[in-house]
Amino acid sequence: MSQRHYDYVIVGSGLPGLLLAASLSRFTDNIALLEAQDTFGGCHKKITNAMGSFENGLRFFPDTESSRSALNFAEAVMNLKIYDEPKESQSVFFEGGQFKPFLGFGDVHVDFYDELAYFLSSSELPLKFPVHEWPKRLMENFKGDFLPRSIVTRFQSEEGRVKSVLINGTKTLNGDQFIFCGTFKDLSVLLPTESLSARSKNKLNKTTYWTSICLDILHSAPFENTNAYHVLNGTTQDELGPCFGKLYPPTENMQFSQWISFVDDELSDDSEVTAHALKKMKRQIKRAYPTALDNPISERIFVYSNYAGDGVLKVNENQTIAGLDNLWIASPTINPGKNMVGAIKQAELVVSSLGFSIEKQNDGQTYAEETTIEPLPHPESTL
Ligand SMILES: Cc1cc2nc3c(=O)[nH]c(=O)nc-3n(C[C@H](O)[C@H](O)[C@H](O)COP(=O)(O)OP(=O)(O)OC[C@H]3O[C@@H](n4cnc5c(N)ncnc54)[C@H](O)[C@@H]3O)c2cc1C
Repeated sequence: MSQRHYDYVIVGSGLPGLLLAASLSRFTDNIALLEAQDTFGGCHKKITNAMGSFENGLRFFPDTESSRSALNFAEAVMNLKIYDEPKESQSVFFEGGQFKPFLGFGDVHVDFYDELAYFLSSSELPLKFPVHEWPKRLMENFKGDFLPRSIVTRFQSEEGRVKSVLINGTKTLNGDQFIFCGTFKDLSVLLPTESLSARSKNKLNKTTYWTSICLDILHSAPFENTNAYHVLNGTTQDELGPCFGKLYPPTENMQFSQWISFVDDELSDDSEVTAHALKKMKRQIKRAYPTALDNPISERIFVYSNYAGDGVLKVNENQTIAGLDNLWIASPTINPGKNMVGAIKQAELVVSSLGFSIEKQNDGQTYAEETTIEPLPHPESTL
């Protein structure tokens, strides 16, 4: 492993990592894509149950200028038309024994309001190409080496440039350009000591990060047929705050719903805090739908730390780390867009800062269930 020298070393094969890997593959195949897990795709996995297939890392995609621009980039990389016309979305709030249009929390302070606000836009963009299928499509267009079970434990530098990464604490992998698409907060331990002052390290660590607590329920009876998103609170204000939920159209004898809330990352290591948050989400659901939790067919709990945060690290305009001009940051946390929008926009920003432009080829296929997706042709390297 130590002999090979890659043009690009990408750390993390979530959405931004895969978008970068597929984009750069149009120009070179000398790329290493390193992933800590056994497989690629990060949080974007397919959830399957008796009601069909569902997303894990997507519940709502807002319709904004920035989100359209993000999807246009993703379309160009995948050479596929992936989104439909926007549609109105409505959120409801349960109060005084009835559902009302959600108009905000008024005077009530919600710690993770910024995270929740993303889900509460009045218009959404339906994605016709499921996001859990994107990783496969992007991987088909990746021409380099994928190295699973490779946790980057250190960036190693000399004279203001990263020379290599340390993998699993033992192996060294050399490269020219390094692109970090992992958990932003981890940079406080991954960066070479000399390039991160104690003050910057503090700034990265001390700010709030949120762990998302997700609860998927396959209900044993239908209870509501609505497209409205739900914001549910308890009867009294407490430190755990509201949860956000999506209900899928019911069949005659079952229904599926997905719920998400957030807890401070610092507290989420404590299993009691997570259990308490889940219990509370269930109480909120039961208050609005008293029979919804009777004899559920199944429940799925997914806890994801460092979902979002406001950690600060000085980066140059081209998204390299100050003092390390070949280490590019493509983690979504650093982008003003949030969530998937931030992930795609940050990948696009790094691709263009690296000097590349990704055009749609052959006007793009339109994705439909029956489309057979062909890998992109691999143009001659221009490097
Ligand atoms: C439950 C959930 C629900 C969501 N809902 C929505 C939604 O409704 N709308 C929306 O727009 N967005 C949503 N998002 C957010 C969005 O999908 C993600 O933020 C986005 O896709 C980017 O993820 P990521 O690549 O940063 O992280 P991940 O998907 O976690 O990928 C990061 C990858 O990097 C790897 N990695 C990390 N560190 C290292 C290392 N040191 N060495 C090697 N590999 C490493 C990890 O193993 C992982 O595979 C949701 C996310 C989650 C988790």
